[in-house]
Formats: sequence, C-alpha cells, structure tokens
Amino acid sequence: MLNNVVVIGSGPAGLTAAVYAARANLKPLLIEGLEAGGQLMLTTLVENFPGFRDGIMGPDLMGEMRAQAERFGADIVQAEVTAVDFRHHPFLVRTSEADYRARAAIVATGASAQLLGLESERRLMGHGVSTCATCDGFFFREREIAVVGGGDSALEEAIYLTRFASKVTLIHRRNVLRGSKIMQDKAFANPKIAFKWNSVVEEIRDPDKGTVTGMVLRDMVTGERSDLPLDGVFVAIGHTPNTSLFAGQLEMDAAGYLITRDGMHTNIPGVFACGDVQDRVYRQAVTAAGSGCMAALDAEHFLDGLPEHLEASVGE
Ligand code: NAP
Repeated sequence: MLNNVVVIGSGPAGLTAAVYAARANLKPLLIEGLEAGGQLMLTTLVENFPGFRDGIMGPDLMGEMRAQAERFGADIVQAEVTAVDFRHHPFLVRTSEADYRARAAIVATGASAQLLGLESERRLMGHGVSTCATCDGFFFREREIAVVGGGDSALEEAIYLTRFASKVTLIHRRNVLRGSKIMQDKAFANPKIAFKWNSVVEEIRDPDKGTVTGMVLRDMVTGERSDLPLDGVFVAIGHTPNTSLFAGQLEMDAAGYLITRDGMHTNIPGVFACGDVQDRVYRQAVTAAGSGCMAALDAEHFLDGLPEHLEASVGE
C-alpha cells in the first residue's frame, strides 16, 4: 500500500508531524515504535510545555498528542521499524509485520539518554532520577542533588541546577573532566557545585520508598564505598540518537545525529527529520514539536511537487 507520508516515531516531533500532515489531508501513517511516546513517557510533571499552566504529566501529554493526531485521521501502527529503503522512490519502510511504501517519510526516532544501567535507576526514573535538568530542575528547590557525568552536558546541567538546588555534587568516574575548558571554569567557580572524583554510582537509594534518598558510591582508586545523602540524581552521561536504521542512507554527523538543512530536509529529497534525532542542542519537547510541524509542512510542499503518476496510486 502506498502512503503519502510515513512518520517514524511517536514523541512530540512525530506526533506533531502527524497532526499537521493529517490536517493537510495527507492521511499519514505513523509507526510508533516500541518506546511509544518517547522520552516524555519517562518524566512526571512537565511544566514548560506551553498551554498547561499547572503542568501536565509527561505520559498524559503524549496521550493527548496521540489522540489529537488520531482525531484528524492519522493512522497509528504499533510496530518496530526494522529496515528502510530511502534510495528508491516510493520509499520502503519495513516493520516485522508489514512493508509500507511512502511518497514522503518523516524520521522522528529521537535520541535516547544513556543510562547507568542500574535497577534502582530504572525504578526511580521520574521519581527523583532524571535525565533532563531543564525539565525537572524546578522540583529540587533548596534540595541537595547530584549530577553524574563529566562532559559538557553534565557541567551545563550542574550549573543550571544551582539555580534551584542548595548543593549540586558532580560525580565523575575519572579525575579529569571531559567538558570544555570554559564550562569547567564556570563549574569550578560556582560555590554550590562540589566534585566527587574517581567515583562510580553503585546504587541509588531508595526504590522501595519510591523516592531518592541518596546513593552508594565506589571510589575507583581505593575501592572504598561511601554513602551520599541526596534528594535527586541527574544522569548526564550522553545521548544516543536512534539512527542506526538509516546508516548509509541519511547523512549524519560524527555523533550519529541526522543532518537537516533548509528546514527539515535530509540529504534525500522527500525524507525529512525532526526532533531530537537531528537536534543535539535544544532537546526540548516544545522544540521537537515545532520541528515536527516544520517537517510536515516541508513534506506537504514536497508532495505538491511530485508527478501525477505517483499521486494516482495513493491509497492503492
Ligand atoms: P560526552 O561528551 O560523551 O560526555 C559523557 C560523560 O559521561 C563523560 O564524562 C563520560 O566519562 C561519562 N560517562 C559515560 N558513560 C558513563 C557511565 N556509564 N558511567 C559514568 N560516567 C559515564 O557527552 P555530553 O556531555 O552529553 O556531550 C555530548 C556532545 O555535546 C559533546 O560534544 C559536548 O561538547 C556537546 N555539548 C556541548 C554543550 C555546550 O557547549 N554547552 C552542552 C552539552 C553538550 P569519561 O569522560 O570518563 O568518558
């Protein structure tokens, strides 16, 4: 079956693209993937998405966006995309269940925050453990928190979090930071930031209480274990864009983020990318949604210029 637009991914970028494409009567097909709803499904209260003065729970926001896309006629399929062929037009998008053909494709597969991989981290995610200071920092006014990581993200988050927290401890597994000199200088000069060097997090306490009360650290040099009482933990050890499916087809930067230009165009005409999969800087729900809108408008414009014979076969 030939679709006008297939959207891959169901975070704010993909769902906004689907809303716009549906309202343009393009009857988009959205393949929502195994982590439906994206990173907002891992957060609790979202207070910075415009329009919700009292905030909205992350999963509720995604539920609303999904319902909005369906209301305008988007067809949402729960499946994992296993392969794509963007080299031939119409494009092929393959899931374990079916093959879909598309005249235009919008890639919104997001980026996944890297995690420490601890069971306690998983259980406390959204309950004192976060991967987004901009999203959750506000909840830690006058609290003591930790940021894990030694790169620019960790430094930036630590500095940002000192607006709220009474103390921020940066926990790094080595004794040299990876982040840029200017960010290091800013962090060292900030009286609210303390550093724990050569330290790895062994456990976050206390999943049974449903909230963060501290962590167990292990010193990489001495092997000693210590307890650090805390109210929150921000994990900032990097993000991985979900782009392995597109290797060899879509242009990426060295870190694997898709490269977009002239709006949301990729290197292949008719393939557009939006949201965190192409954004290593802003990474906000609202910027992802905005770029989803742009991708849908770009796709609509692209479809307007396609030859008749392809238009004729839509829906067959
Ligand atoms: P990054 O530079 O890859 O740094 C990741 C940090 O996390 C490293 O310090 C690493 O330790 C640590 N780490 C990785 N896995 C870990 C684990 N399992 N346990 C404990 N620690 C772990 O990632 P990033 O900070 O997200 O930055 C990504 C890119 O974006 C960089 O190019 C960065 O410069 C850029 N960026 C720039 C800005 C800015 O300029 N304002 C802000 C954010 C990001 P090691 O050092 O030991 O490897």
